[in-house]
This record gives sequence, C-alpha cells and structure tokens, in this order.
Amino acid sequence: MDHRADTYIGGRWTESRGEDVIAVLDPSTGHCVATVRESAAEDVDAAVDAATAARPALRSMEPAARAALLTRIADELEKRSADLAGLISREMGMPRKHCEGYQVRTAVTTLRNTAAALPEVEFTTRIGHSTVYREPVGVVAAITPWNFPLLQTVAKVGPALAAGCPVVLKPSEITPLDAFVLAEAVHAAGAPAGAFNLVLGNGMNVGEYLVGHPGTAMVSLTGSTRAGRRVARLAAPGVKRVALELGGKSASVVLPDGDLAAAVAGSVRTVMINSGQTCTALTRLLVPFQKLAEAETLVAEAMAAYRVGMPHDPDADVGPLASAGQQQRVNEHLERAPVDGARTIWAHPPDKLPRTGFFAGPAAFTVTDPRIPLAQQEVFGPLLAVIPYVDETDAVDIANGTDYGLAAAVWSADEERALAVAGRLEAGSVAVNGAPFNGLAPFGGYKQSGHGRELGAYGIAEFTEVKSVQRREGAAR
Ligand code: NAD
Repeated sequence: MDHRADTYIGGRWTESRGEDVIAVLDPSTGHCVATVRESAAEDVDAAVDAATAARPALRSMEPAARAALLTRIADELEKRSADLAGLISREMGMPRKHCEGYQVRTAVTTLRNTAAALPEVEFTTRIGHSTVYREPVGVVAAITPWNFPLLQTVAKVGPALAAGCPVVLKPSEITPLDAFVLAEAVHAAGAPAGAFNLVLGNGMNVGEYLVGHPGTAMVSLTGSTRAGRRVARLAAPGVKRVALELGGKSASVVLPDGDLAAAVAGSVRTVMINSGQTCTALTRLLVPFQKLAEAETLVAEAMAAYRVGMPHDPDADVGPLASAGQQQRVNEHLERAPVDGARTIWAHPPDKLPRTGFFAGPAAFTVTDPRIPLAQQEVFGPLLAVIPYVDETDAVDIANGTDYGLAAAVWSADEERALAVAGRLEAGSVAVNGAPFNGLAPFGGYKQSGHGRELGAYGIAEFTEVKSVQRREGAAR
C-alpha cells in the first residue's frame, strides 16, 4: 500500500504538514489501497505563494512556448498511460479496460487540443483607437471531482497555463492519486517552478481555505451544484472570478421521426459507461407516447447487454460506484422511484451484483410524471428515466423542466427539425443524431449546471482579464 506524505509545491516535492490522512478506497472492495497526508493551511499558503512568484515567468512566455509546454505535459502523461489507467481504475472503479481510453487518452487529447487552440485566442486586438489585451487573470484555484479525475483536472490546468496563469490544484479527496502523476508529468515537462502546485484534502477545510485565500484571483470548480453554490459564496467577498462546471440531468429527445434504436443505444451507453457517473449522461430519454412500448423493449435489451463486474475483469463493462455515498444515493433512488409512481423497465438483479464494494443498479424506469426526484435530481449513477411526451412543445418543456442545463441530445430524420429543437433547449451543448463530442467546442452549463466554459479557445479565454488601452488618434506609433 502506498503512503504519500509529500506534495508538489514550487517545483519540488515537499512534505505535507497536515495532521490528517485521506484513505483512498478501492470501490470494488471497499478496502484502503493508499493513504495521502492532507495539506495544512501553511501548505496552501506556500502553494499560493509559489504560484504568485511564478506569475512573471509564465506571463513572459510567448503563447507558442506555452503551447509547447502543454504538448510536453501531454507527452509525459502519455508515457505514463498504462500506470495512470490502472491507478484511476483502482481509485474510482471504472473498468480497467475503459480507463486508458476514457480517462487517460481523453486527458492527453484535451491538453493537445488546448495547445492547438492557443493560436486562435486573440491576445491583442484593435478597436478604433484602443488596443485590447487579454491578460492572465492571476493565480487559479482549480478544484476537481473524482468521476474523470485526470480529464477534469487538465481541462483546467491546461487552459490556465495556456493563458499564463499559475495553478494551485486541489483534486477530489476520493481520487487524489492521479494528481501526483500529473505533477510528475508537469515537472518532467520543464514547467516553470510554481506554475503548477498541488494541495490535498477535502472540500470543507482545504478546499474552502484555498477558495477564500487572498492570493487566488480565480476559482474554477468542477463538482456538484451544492459545492458550486458554496464556492461562489466564499469567493464573493474577494470578488473573485468563479467558473463553475456543475451537475446535469440531460435529456435525450427522440422526435417522432427519430431513429429510436440509435437514440436508445446512444443514451443507454452514457448511463452505463462509468456507472453513469458522467456529468453529461443522458439520463432522461424523452420518447413520443406512441413509441413508449417500443422504447421500453429496446432499453431493456440495451441495458441487459452491459455486464456488471469487478474493474479488473476484462468482460466487465460497468464497475462499482466510486464511493459508499454514491452507492447509497443510487440505492435510495432505486427504492423511492417505484413509490413515486415510476414503473421498472429493467433492473439488474441485486443478488447478482458482486458482493463486495460499492455496486448498485443499473436500472431503467418509465416515468409519466417528470416532476418526481428520479426525473429531476442528478443521480450520478446508472439509472435511466424514460419519459413519454405528447408533442414537440411538451418534449421541449419536459427537457427544459429541471434546474440543470448541461447537455442534451435530439434525434430526428429531419436535421432542420432537430436543429430547431436544439435551438429551444436550455443546455450548453446539444448533440444532433449522435454527433460525437467536440473537444475544441466550448463546454459548460446553463442554469444550475454552472457558468463559464471549458475547452478550446473559449476555455483559455476564461482565464484572462481584458484590458483596453486608449491612445490619442494620430499619435506617433
Ligand atoms: P463534489 O462537489 O462533492 O466535489 C467536487 C470537488 O469540490 C472536490 O474536490 C471537493 O473536495 C470540492 N469541494 C466540495 N465542497 C467544497 C467546498 N465547500 N469548498 C471547496 N471545495 C469543495 O462533487 P463530486 O462528488 O466530486 O463530483 C460529482 C459532481 O461533479 C456531480 O454533480 C457532477 O455532475 C459534477 N461534474 C460536473 C462536470 C461538468 O463539467 N459540468 C464534470 C464532472 C463532474
């Protein structure tokens, strides 16, 4: 078992001074597989100081040099792919066979995409007699979740560095291990000392201290809406920039002429992969009333084809939930949904689940009242609500009828019609007819799914402050 007492601050490994340790549990067994010492307030202070000291070095790097740094970090991560895949599988439970692609390659690609997008950011533009500059916002506090721990982290660290901002990262206390590998990669890539710093601990103490720290100019959080509200409140006295990537309850809207089989396969996939612990999972499948019976049959077949098993089992498609808390949340919804009037379409037999660790679900329900918790709350587990609708207006109302607005999908044989519906959906990204994810397009939420955008040029621009400098017309240049 690994015991880490160190962390990475100011370009070197130093001992953490916190009194508590974080126990990292293997979600498939519930056993402790590593411990990590928490950061003390002095460690957070040292990390913010180191980041502050790195500002001039990062700022003076040309965009091309920053892009080259990101590419080197991507290369270093790629060299460590197999180790990272094993580590992430162990700390959060995704089947090992999926981790290299979904967890590591996506992170490497995100860094490379960020490097490629850098030339698109207009750091200097002219508006009449003004020159407008995009300048680095300052020290960034990056706070990240456990579901795609490395990917969500580089989606902040990459663009922040690209914009010239040093970062203090606090990864999730559930999955702190991969962040050590990221620190190694940043170091091996030759980042300026202090450009990237790591602090460890839970949200309440280390997270809140970092958010409220007078030395951080911006907080970028990916996590729950509950944490987003709290972080926004804590950042308010310092009038800090806050970017929030929060939860979702995304709708997959199948129009009457849509390809139902493709829609079911595509939507079920997002609910099963990573045990549904994906912020953009299409957890509400909206189908015309006339097609409900057909949809139910297809959903049952699609779900039953996924095999639940231990993460190391090469046949397993769906692993455990990442924590006991997640397991409890899924089980509570499983119990409550029928009481609220949901009808079970398909459910994995509970007695056939592995008996260790944090397994729960998967299941699908027909929900005729879209106001029930299963159809409103983010379960963050492998539960699907199939919701029938009367007509297109009803479908749009149901799709928009939650507090969230992260992602959506629309399916129709008539692309113009699908695009018109996409235009009426309150969601930050909409896929038409199963179009693939675009890692260069802006990503983020409407409503309580957050604000701010990640990825590509938009993601880099988030970490900049805009300054206009006016000159007298006709003055010598
Ligand atoms: P969480 O909110 O419990 O924790 C996320 C991070 O915030 C962790 O590092 C945690 O320690 C920290 N944190 C929690 N409370 C804090 C506080 N008061 N102050 C400072 N930091 C605090 O979320 P989670 O359970 O780790 O992740 C799951 C959530 O993340 C889901 O709601 C999911 O939808 C969301 N998510 C969103 C996106 C997106 O891009 N929109 C992506 C992935 C996950």
